[in-house]
This record gives sequence, structure tokens and C-alpha cells, in this order.
Amino acid sequence: MKHFPIFLNVATKRIVLAGGGEAALAKLRLLLKTEAQIEVFAEAPDPQIVTWALENRLTLTTRALTTGDVNGAALFYAASENDAEDARTAAIARAEGTLVNLVDNLADSQFITPAIVDRDPVTVAIGTEGAAPVLARAIKADLEERLPVSLGRLTRIGQAFRKASMKLPFGSARRDFWADFYFNAGPRALADGEDAARASLNTLLTKHLNAETREGHVIFVGAGPGDPELLTLKARAALDRADVVIHDGLVPGEILELARREATLVPVGKTGFGKSTPQDDINAAMIYHAAQGLEVVRLKSGDPAVFGRLDEEIDALTGAGIAFTIIPGLTAASAAVASLGQSLTQRGRNSSARLITAHDTKGYAEQDWRALARPGEVAAIYMGKRAARFVQGRLLMHGADPATPVGIVENASRADERVISTTLAALPDALNAANLNGPAVIMLGLAQRARAVEKRETA
Ligand code: SAH
Repeated sequence: MKHFPIFLNVATKRIVLAGGGEAALAKLRLLLKTEAQIEVFAEAPDPQIVTWALENRLTLTTRALTTGDVNGAALFYAASENDAEDARTAAIARAEGTLVNLVDNLADSQFITPAIVDRDPVTVAIGTEGAAPVLARAIKADLEERLPVSLGRLTRIGQAFRKASMKLPFGSARRDFWADFYFNAGPRALADGEDAARASLNTLLTKHLNAETREGHVIFVGAGPGDPELLTLKARAALDRADVVIHDGLVPGEILELARREATLVPVGKTGFGKSTPQDDINAAMIYHAAQGLEVVRLKSGDPAVFGRLDEEIDALTGAGIAFTIIPGLTAASAAVASLGQSLTQRGRNSSARLITAHDTKGYAEQDWRALARPGEVAAIYMGKRAARFVQGRLLMHGADPATPVGIVENASRADERVISTTLAALPDALNAANLNGPAVIMLGLAQRARAVEKRETA
């Protein structure tokens, strides 16, 4: 991020602009929304600027800007539509210690003006660092449509009530109250005028004060294999409401960023071989937060029910009398076969597919190797990187064909995904050569489909 977005208090501050044509008009329309004192310098100002000056909305000086004119201003805009003239006035402003913007000249500007959606006091600023003004305009149009025009009025009315709302305990109770007001009772009451909207706040507060305190609750949420777009809508909604998010190390930052901004993030990393959080601590964290009446999301990679020790966590909650729900997610094997361009099951080849792990609590995990060694069998091996030689040995011992295709998918669905096609005979060597860093699922019986037509869209 080259440009850091902030909201600058310009009330009673001066903003100076040099220029009197179209570019100046466009900027002035925005600046006149502020409480700043606007000063314009232009030899030949557009009649609209003259009108604004007559209405005392800005002060107009009908000559070119010179040394001493900018002194002490909060911001300066060079908007003459003449490069040499803009460079001249910007140099004066810079020398007089003011932040400058040259219209349509990103390189020499110290700040840029974002596209703005104005529902004062709710203001949305959209910037693309000059990279895609068309995109900024499209986002603005989208938001203009989505944010009701009454939002600003409602916010002002709500603002005056913030103190009173503190009678409700901090956290979900207070949040529920405000959500009820802004999206429900408020807009309805506002239809009958601002007094009605103000009155609705009192009624609503009484209703929420009398509401039973919310019980704590844990939602097990499947975060999917890593691509945020593979989250379910329910997972997104749960993240949106969460007070606390207790998450695995495999859940990427892009997904954690979707959690409500005020949510507390509790990392409980568990890597097969690195540092990990003991299961008891994870259980204790869930119980601790839920017992306070908070909305707890237990965010697990993939599907929470696949190699996620879900039962142990459910048992702990049940023991503590805490309710839970489960939102399933896309498991790594599903993402992996998609990347291979393959079907997990196929008529005539395999009518079953197994999800197996190469590790269990006692070390390497034993499986029905004889069944897995049969031609056409398909299995997704989770946590299998280190156990590959063991798996290979067992399968060959039980008569598996050394030429059995194997597909290794690392970081399935993520930007850094890698797919390696190999055979059972070459599996350990292929893994060594690949030097995998990320999570990988080994698809026994399936390598990447030969034709390139299955290539994943990256757009
Ligand atoms: N609940 C998860 C699995 C957790 S066990 C799920 O349903 O996917 C952790 C193992 O899952 C890793 O060792 C790896 O084998 C696999 N895994 C998780 N995310 C993966 C990804 N994006 N790509 C490949 N394998 C992944």
C-alpha cells in the first residue's frame, strides 16, 4: 500500500485550489461537501465558481496564485489543466508546507483524492492508487446503489443515542441492538419521520434490555482448502457475526480477514511436526469464550469433520453444557481432484474412494492395504508427506501395480498450488524432489488428466 487512507479533519481549515476550468469544478464539487474554507485562485473562473463565491461558499481571487497565497492551508490542489502552471503553483504550495495534489499527475502529487460515496457521516472512500479509475467508479456505483440514501440520517440519529445504548452489555447484546436499529426498526420508523426514528430507539432499547441474555455458542466452521472464494455463504455469515475466532494454522490470512473487525482471533496452530497447541488448551479456549455468552467460531481448514478431531472438541463442549453447530466445508481431497481435472469416483473404475491418513496417535496408520492395492482404487492420503515411503512399501507388499498413478497436490486451491504427477514406484523420490512446504494431499490412483483443457481459471 503506497497510499494510506485516512480521514482528515478539515473543519475550519483552509483548502486552496488554483484553476478555474472543468478540472477545478470537479474537485470543488467534492470539496464543497466539507466544512473547510475553500479558496480559489483563477484568472478566468467558470461562472459556476463565481456563483459559489457570491453565495459565500468559497472565496475567489481572480488572478494567478503567487507566493504567500497558500501559507498554512491544509491541502492544495493544482487544477489549471496546464502542466507548467500546475508545476509552478504546486512548487509554491510545497514550499509553504502544504500537501499538494496535481490533478491527473499522480507522480508529482503527495496525496490523491479517492472516489467517495457520501452518506455523511458514513463516508466510503475508494482508491486504486491510480491503477484502475474505472474499477473505482464501478465499485462506487455499486455501493451507491446498495447503501440507502437514508443511511446518513439514521446514523446521525443513532449517534446521539450511543451513550444510552451503553446500558446494554458490551459485545453481542449491544451489537444486536444496533443491527436491529440500522437494518430493521430504524428504516421502518424513519418512513414516519426523524422523530419516529428517534422514538424507536427507546422502544428498541427496552426490548433488548428485557431480552434474555444470549447463551454462548460454538460454531464449527469449515474454512475450505484455502481459496476464500471456496468458503460457503454460511461460513462467511458466521465469520461476520463472530466475537471470537479460534483458528488452525492452515487457515490463510485472507480468510481470517473476513472475520468481523472487532472479533478476537485466537490461533491454535497444529502442524504435524512443528509447534502445536495441545488439544486440551483448544477445548479450554472454546469453553472459556463461549461461557461468556460470546459467539465463538471454531474455524478449521477444509471440512471440520475430516481429520479435524471434531469429536474430541464436541465432547468437551457437551461436557461443559455448551451448544454447538457445524458448518461443513470443502475438504482438501475435493479441491485436489478438481486440480487434477479428475473425478473422485468413476463408473467401472472405482465405486468408492477413501479418505485416509498416514498418521494416527500411534505413529504410522495401518489401513486395509490389500483393498487399497487393487487396481482402480482411489484414496486421498492426508498428512502423508513423511509417510509416503511407508505407504508405498505396504501397498507394493500387497501387490499394488508400481505404475499406479499418483497425484500430489500441494496448497490445493491456493495461489501457490502445485501439482505433481507421479507413480507409486516413484512416489518417495518425487516427494523428495518436490521439496514441499505447504499442506499436500496425495491422491492414490489419480494423476493429472493429460489434456490441458482442465486448467483452472485464475482470473
Ligand atoms: N479438515 C481438513 C484436513 C485437516 S488435516 C480437510 O478437510 O481438508 C491436515 C491435512 O489436510 C494436511 O496435512 C494435508 O494433507 C491436507 N490439506 C489441508 N489443506 C490442504 C490444501 N489446501 N492442499 C492440500 N492438502 C491440504
